[in-house]
Amino acid sequence: QSADALRGGLVVSSHGRHCMVETADGTRVICHPRGKKSAAVVGDRVLWQPSRDEGTIERVEERRNLFYRQDEVRSKSFAANLDLVLILVAADPVFSESQLARALIAAEDARIAPLVVLNKSDLAAPYTRAWERLQPYRDMGYEVLGLSLAQAGAARRAELLRRLAGKTTLVLGPSGAGKSTLINLLVPGALAATGEVSQALNSGKHTTTTTSWYWVDRAAGTALLDSPGFQEFGLRHIAPMHLAACMPDLRAHAQECRFYNCTHLHEPGCGVISTVKTAYSAGGISASRYKIYSDLFAELSAPQRY
Ligand code: GDP
Ligand code: ZN
Repeated sequence: QSADALRGGLVVSSHGRHCMVETADGTRVICHPRGKKSAAVVGDRVLWQPSRDEGTIERVEERRNLFYRQDEVRSKSFAANLDLVLILVAADPVFSESQLARALIAAEDARIAPLVVLNKSDLAAPYTRAWERLQPYRDMGYEVLGLSLAQAGAARRAELLRRLAGKTTLVLGPSGAGKSTLINLLVPGALAATGEVSQALNSGKHTTTTTSWYWVDRAAGTALLDSPGFQEFGLRHIAPMHLAACMPDLRAHAQECRFYNCTHLHEPGCGVISTVKTAYSAGGISASRYKIYSDLFAELSAPQRY
């Protein structure tokens, strides 16, 4: 096969071995990988070859970044070439700080910009508490947007669209935070439509989580990615010694450590440990952040089960 017979495309969903590839004119073709090396994930740019009414992926183009999800035992790549990870939490139900921190670490490790959205600002007291719990995250430079998605009007919608314009955004969040409300706000009618498509593609098979691709504005290249039921993104591929580098507050104080290979768990002259011992203020390290670090360090150090 000659190279000029190959066509370019974008992977908009993957279903086990096969995936849906969208071409420049917007048509979608079911494609199968040629071999292990051409296995693609959502967001991949691929070169494919038509065969009957389906296609074969010959090559996956070089990725800008890769995001992982947690399998039973290991991290598994599932989305590529992301511009933004939108982490949605809500005033109610109370969000898990550990889950938020893990999502941010995953984004940092993959070098993808994160945006934290705190939903349900109409629930005044829980919202104030949640906003305060996010204080350390604002202090360390993360962008946190507080709003009510249910009550969002045209101005709020336009503001969100401006923030996401031209980007491929992965939406993460625990169930109940308002992910469906967000997607419905930005892509009216999208949830009903893609539900049918993925049902057709997955019919008769054991269905794991399918990542859906929603065009907010195809011409502008604005897209949202959603993985229903997806809670645990993979961190297993991250080396424990790299963890502090993925946490801006620890990263800043790790520069003060006496030993270059400090684990920040017990060493003398550790800049992280001495900072945690002082009461938290902006620029410091909160006790809960340090606990998340040490728990995760232990988790990532444990031998992997295969
Ligand atoms: P998902 O599970 O993340 O997809 O969350 P949904 O979008 O289904 O929202 C979960 C619940 O929160 C629903 O009952 C929504 O009506 C409600 N909800 C969403 N946004 C808001 C909001 O801004 N304020 C309040 N009070 N409730 C909201
Ligand atoms: Zn240290």
